[in-house]
Parts: sequence; structure tokens; C-alpha cells
Amino acid sequence: MNLAAVQKSGKNQGRYLGETIRAGEWLEKMEFTGARNGWTGELIAKSENFPVKAWHLPARVPSPGNLRVYISAGIHGDEPAGPLAAHDLMAFTPWPDNVELWILPCLNPGALEHNRRENAQGLDLNRDFRDSKTHECRSHVAWLERQKPWDIYFCLHEDWESHGFYLYEQNPDDRPSLAEWIIQEVGKVCPIDLSENIEGRTAHNGIIRPNIHPLERPDWPEAFYLISHKSRQGYTLEAPSDFPLPMRVRALTTAVLAGIHRLAGLCGHPIPGQPVQA
Ligand SMILES: [Zn+2]
Repeated sequence: MNLAAVQKSGKNQGRYLGETIRAGEWLEKMEFTGARNGWTGELIAKSENFPVKAWHLPARVPSPGNLRVYISAGIHGDEPAGPLAAHDLMAFTPWPDNVELWILPCLNPGALEHNRRENAQGLDLNRDFRDSKTHECRSHVAWLERQKPWDIYFCLHEDWESHGFYLYEQNPDDRPSLAEWIIQEVGKVCPIDLSENIEGRTAHNGIIRPNIHPLERPDWPEAFYLISHKSRQGYTLEAPSDFPLPMRVRALTTAVLAGIHRLAGLCGHPIPGQPVQA
């Protein structure tokens, strides 16, 4: 594909006005795909009568040294590529033997149904992970508190204003970064936003490394909770929602697969074969 020829649609004026999906139909598909591929779903909250689930896939070869991976999507209902990418990741097979996964494919399905960023009360769940006020975040945090830490997290998002894919990296211990590798792989399927300033932060080649201490900020996004309590490395992935939906979904799945395979390799685990898109 000639990515240089891909144009922004220009559809999104002031907010996301692109393709939408029906939450009920998508949830039915998730149940089918989850059951078919060996995932177990756990109900963790309700969102306007839609279930919010955490799906778990054990490693094929159980071992205490397995790579524990957390993936979430759909916290903003006007970002449909995240839940669609989460579905494709649950359909993906085979994962490396040593990888154990948790996917929370849609944290705000009521908002997904209405193509709306916030929950039914008009609150942005991705600003409510410190002293949570919303029942959705309180239930989510209660579930998170019961889990062991993850080696890595990925939070899947979209940005209707961006000129291409970009990501935020949280890596307080200076572990080997996956950011450049993820950008390199995503750049084969989706344009990268090369702006030097994205969302008011310094960016370089689609990578933002925010220099904020979580304790300085009252309105925590999910990533701040995760990096403060549950993981020491993680990526918030932003697909450009003024571009075609299949391209955005592919960008998000490619980013996650590239990150996991690289990390599995960096940890000294063998990677059985190259990932093949399901
Ligand atoms: Zn978002």
C-alpha cells in the first residue's frame, strides 16, 4: 500500500464523526470469538446495561516466568478502532508459548453505542483513576487491585485530530524501549504523526515520553494508575481517526503484536515464528 497517497478524510470537525459500531453486535461477536479461541471472560462492571468484561488467555506453557500482558480499549466511546482491534487480537493465534494475556476490550460500551467520549453522566473515565467517582472506574480499579502486576500494558485509543499514529511511552525504570520498534512496524501499515508537538507535548517520530510524575496530577488516566500500581512499562497507542477504520484497527493490532514479540525476545524467551495477522 502506498501510505503517502492515503489522505485524511476531513470528516471530523470538532469531534469524531466517522464510522461507528453497534455495541450489542460487537459484544456478541466478542463472546463468540472469545469462546472459540480459549479465552475466559469475567464480568467486572456494567455500563448502561452493557457488560464490561476482562478476558483472560493463559499461556500455552504455564511457567512463573511467563510474560504477563494487559491490554485495554474502548474507555472513550468515540474511538471504535480500539474495541475492533481488541476483537482481532482475541482472534489472533498463535501467541508465543510464554505469553499470558488479559484483554479488557471495551471499558465504556454504553458510550460506544452512542459515539460519545464520556460515560452516561458526562464524565471522562480516563480522568477518573485517582479517587474514582464513577462506578465504572471504581469497579475496574477493584478488579485491578486483585490482579498480580503485568510486565507490560497497552491502552488502545484514537485521536481524531492527529496526522497519523503516535504513542505515549511510560518507562520509569529505563527498561529497553519498545517505542521505536513499534513505530517502525506500524509505519508499514499506517502513516505516523511526525509533528514535533502533539496534544501540547513534545513528540519525536510519533513518540511522546511524558515527563510528569503521577502524584502531581489529580485527574489520572488509566495509564497513570497502571504505571503507579500495576506495571513498570506501558504504551498508550493513538490511532488517527480521520483515516480509514480498517487502517486504524491494523495500526493498533500491529503495535500490540510488535511490542509483545519484541519484549518476548528481549526477555530472552524464544519467539515461535513470526506473528501472522488473523
Ligand atoms: Zn481516547
